[in-house]
Amino acid sequence: MKSLFTLLLAALLLSGCSEPPHSVSNHQVYVFGTLVDITVWGAHPEQEDKAVAAITQDFQRMHHEWHAWKPGPLVEINKAIAAGEPATVIPSLIPIIEQSTVLSRQSEGLFDPAIGGLLNLWGFQGDGRPNGPPPEREAIAAWVEANPRMDDLTLQGDTLRSANPAVQLDFGAFAKGYAVDLAIARLREFGIDDAIINAGGDLRAIGSKDGKPWRVGIRHPQGQGVLAALEVSGDESVFTSGNYERYREYEGVHYTHILDPRNGMPVDGVTSVTVIHDNGAVADAAATALVVAGPSEWHRIARQMGIKYVMLVDDKGVVYMNPRMQQRVQFQEPPPADIRLSDPL
Ligand code: ADP
Ligand code: MG
Repeated sequence: MKSLFTLLLAALLLSGCSEPPHSVSNHQVYVFGTLVDITVWGAHPEQEDKAVAAITQDFQRMHHEWHAWKPGPLVEINKAIAAGEPATVIPSLIPIIEQSTVLSRQSEGLFDPAIGGLLNLWGFQGDGRPNGPPPEREAIAAWVEANPRMDDLTLQGDTLRSANPAVQLDFGAFAKGYAVDLAIARLREFGIDDAIINAGGDLRAIGSKDGKPWRVGIRHPQGQGVLAALEVSGDESVFTSGNYERYREYEGVHYTHILDPRNGMPVDGVTSVTVIHDNGAVADAAATALVVAGPSEWHRIARQMGIKYVMLVDDKGVVYMNPRMQQRVQFQEPPPADIRLSDPL
């Protein structure tokens, strides 16, 4: 009798620490106006559910704390800056301000989250698609003249001061990447090392799937489907920025939501930029910066930001990329007719 009990107990214990299932599972969370897909390979279901619940909570908190236009901590910071007063920064925003200041500097200000005032002028502060005529030339010129930059800020402890009251923070070009990084860190906390977090086509993949690389798609610049496929393994993020996602249309002119801080105007001539980098926040900021940099400047800015893989598609369908990127992408048929390779990055 006793031995049967011992056997049963041993079996129970064994099943408790059994091998995780050899399968992929999928979870979806709706945040930041996008569906976030969490794909996990070979994890214990209980760990997975706990991790997904924690990530869902994290995302909701971030959405509140980092939103530049809905009442919350960032809106309060922006009000203080406009009033010329110091602001107290909540802990979750401190690394975001610090890291994006560095990235802004490396991009020569082409990526600059201090441009909230300009985004507001152009109507890109809300979730919807703005319509009506573009802002007055004078208003844009006045903003360019005021020249708000991340470098106007100084952070001492949790006190933020701005030398320029025109600074208005909006982390829209970077927060998704930063959030994906935090979500990956959460998965690892729960012992999950093989996964993809995909936020509307922007993703970070860790580990592998059954010992093989993950296969992912690069969003098609014209919105539907994928332009190319790519294998990722280890730890890599693939981020695409484009002018097809959100824009303002007036009298047949298409104004993209990515703005050039040098002239206050929406970027013209670039359809999309895809960046691969280990860190999601860096990939996100770089993709936006390289849209602004365009065909003539992307290479220099990518180097300064430490980016090793770039693909830029212009509005005529011409593809610009570095040789290592070309080695990795597998285009859907038919491949682009005009591919221009740069010097190595
Ligand atoms: P996606 O919407 O495809 O994730 P991005 O990562 O490029 O696109 O982010 C675009 C958003 O970033 C815009 O909606 C706006 O809020 C903000 N933004 C636009 N231009 C800039 C810029 N030059 N620097 C920093 N942020 C920007
Ligand atoms: Mg971006």
